[in-house]
Amino acid sequence: MRKYIVLISLCILISKIASAQKNNLGVDKIKADAKQNLQSKYSVYKNIALDIWKFAEVGYKEVKSSALLQQTLRDNGFTVQAGVAEIPTAFVASYGSGKPVIAILAEFDALPGLSQEAVPEKKSISGKDAGHACGHHLFGTASVAAGIEIKKLIEEKKINGTIKVFGCPAEEGGSGKVYMVREGLFKDVDVVIHWHPDNENNITMTSALANKSAKFRFNGLSAHAAASPEKGRSALDGVEAMNNMVNMMREHIPQETRIHYVITNGGRAPNVVPDFAEVYYYVRHPKKDDVKEIFERVVMAAKGAAMGTGTTVEYEIIGGTHDLLLNKTLGEAMQKNLEKVGGVTYTPEEIEFGKKIQSTFTYKVPAIQTSMTIIPLKTTPDAGGGSTDVGDVSYVVPTVGMGSATWVPGTPAHSWQAVACGGTEIGTKGMMVAAKTISLTAIDFFTDPYLLQIAKEEFLKAKGDYIYKPLLGNRKPALNYRD
Ligand SMILES: [Zn+2]
Repeated sequence: MRKYIVLISLCILISKIASAQKNNLGVDKIKADAKQNLQSKYSVYKNIALDIWKFAEVGYKEVKSSALLQQTLRDNGFTVQAGVAEIPTAFVASYGSGKPVIAILAEFDALPGLSQEAVPEKKSISGKDAGHACGHHLFGTASVAAGIEIKKLIEEKKINGTIKVFGCPAEEGGSGKVYMVREGLFKDVDVVIHWHPDNENNITMTSALANKSAKFRFNGLSAHAAASPEKGRSALDGVEAMNNMVNMMREHIPQETRIHYVITNGGRAPNVVPDFAEVYYYVRHPKKDDVKEIFERVVMAAKGAAMGTGTTVEYEIIGGTHDLLLNKTLGEAMQKNLEKVGGVTYTPEEIEFGKKIQSTFTYKVPAIQTSMTIIPLKTTPDAGGGSTDVGDVSYVVPTVGMGSATWVPGTPAHSWQAVACGGTEIGTKGMMVAAKTISLTAIDFFTDPYLLQIAKEEFLKAKGDYIYKPLLGNRKPALNYRD
């Protein structure tokens, strides 16, 4: 009898292994086809990305860019909900039904003051101010491409569930996603996938700095600066006194803090005592709680400065983003797919273009061929230097991201060199690495419920008992922050 039971158990085990292998074979085939299918549509996606590169619309003003991505999704069978979270250019596109719900983030805003032709020397496009120096034209397009590929698999019943593409405006300082999180748009989502243009191929195992930003507006009294200065009170003095105090404060705040400001209005003419001046501040630190504390000290400096200069001050919170919660389980899964997809290979002309770009840097750059390699998965995550509103998403849903070489190795983000690369096939080829890796990783999430469960457990542990609260409070989207 016992022998008989052992035999049956063995048979069940063998059949389970066989069926798992068959499933794996099935998934491998689905992935290989998806990769090929995306490549066959390369020119379509390249043209969309280059159109958005040309539009180069800044935060919350991405009317044409958002419309093009929405239309592409609609043409491919998605239902698009536009103008979500009180943001005209934000959207959520969905296809399919039931669980799991996998979401992909898409960004599309450009940066002011970084207009640049797609050439390897510094040359702005005449009559154009903004440029895609962070590659968000590629970001949005690759995410839409991956979404459409997954939709096709759901339609063909190769996978089951729901795919969503989130159209996220104003990443650069506008905190667009924070309003979408606050609105509860991610409530039914199981996993969020994002990516970012980069100068190498990697999985995001670097967190981001939490960030709180505000514009401080000083009001004084105008008067003739030479004939009757005693009748005036300079708003610019208020700004300068505040900046002085904050600069002294740097010695007495935690080391990892980053505070930066630009004077966005310092008066108009030296012979008029300025009755209005404005300074725009960012306060960043790896931990959101520290950001909140340091920000309050900056506010005190503003108030002190106003008191001492006989002016008044008000401030408006512009943005606020969390640090980024990393998920090793999801990162490991995405790494395998990135390795399967591989990096970017340049043509001889692209190598020539790339070397010219590299010659404009004053520091040592990696070999141009590193665009073909994949960086091994980081085992110890670090804090990272930038900030992103993906951080807020990562506190409500398990999130995973990657970077792909859309810029020649050595190129920093927010540079004219990044704009130049992004306007060529160096950029669009790198974008396809992301589109394919995101698709393959999403296929894993649709077909492996165990993976999602482990990732969720890791997410819950990392988040602890923290209940999400936006750093920017309950303000409405700062739709005119770029005015
Ligand atoms: Zn960016």
